[in-house]
Amino acid sequence: MTKKHTNVISISPEIQVGGKDIIFIAGPCAVESYEQMQAAAPAMRKAGLNVMRGGAFKPRTSPHTFQGLGKEGLKIMRQVANEFGLLVISEALGVEHVPLLAEYADIIQIGSRNMQHYPLLWAVGETEKPVMLKRGFMSTVGEWLLAAEHITTRGNENIILCERGIRTFGDSIQNTLDVNAIAYLKKNSPFPVIADPSHGTGRSELVLPVAKAALAAGADGLIIEFHPQPAEALSDKEQAVALSELPRFVEEIRELAGLFGRGVI
Ligand code: PEP
Ligand code: MN
Repeated sequence: MTKKHTNVISISPEIQVGGKDIIFIAGPCAVESYEQMQAAAPAMRKAGLNVMRGGAFKPRTSPHTFQGLGKEGLKIMRQVANEFGLLVISEALGVEHVPLLAEYADIIQIGSRNMQHYPLLWAVGETEKPVMLKRGFMSTVGEWLLAAEHITTRGNENIILCERGIRTFGDSIQNTLDVNAIAYLKKNSPFPVIADPSHGTGRSELVLPVAKAALAAGADGLIIEFHPQPAEALSDKEQAVALSELPRFVEEIRELAGLFGRGVI
């Protein structure tokens, strides 16, 4: 594939991914309560961010842990987002969730475990919603791009790729964010690429430095997990960054993006 340009994906009339500005998506791993989302939203607004994340249908490795609030979680998130003028990204875990996500979210997330769930890819391909396709943690870049084509061949070209870390030999970290893949895709694919240094490292203290590495490699954005009280998070607590750190994170990312002539939205 020879790259000519990066597609620019419109999430709203004002917010684009793949253009000059870096999109900084923030929010908890999972929607846990109205109060939790209401704590996150004003902090995001204050930091100048526009897109809030939060899983309602959670793909948990263990069936004995919190599985998400389901439709109730989507409703909470949409309500809080509307109150604060934010956009929303959330995951469709199965084909049956796609109509709900199309109704409640502005971007539909396809999780790492579902990168090759073809009926799900076809289902989001038949909507017009922007789709964020996460890389399977044991998938090659070639397989990832073919997964994206399962979506585009059904008519939906609004795809954002998300590098979220792959399995490697490191045993002190959960995953390894493949910075090579970001640089490669920026040269060889038309899709915007964003990085998830939260799942990409699995450890909160590594999130900011690895986010910066992704940006230096050319990423068009970041998706980072924040929680008002990380120690109490119902999922992915080891990688959750305290919401009180959000202003510093955004400031440091803004400074680095500026060196590349990019803003942060
Ligand atoms: C998530 O974004 O919370 C998530 C479950 O991510 P992944 O699919 O990359 O594991
Ligand atoms: Mn998570």
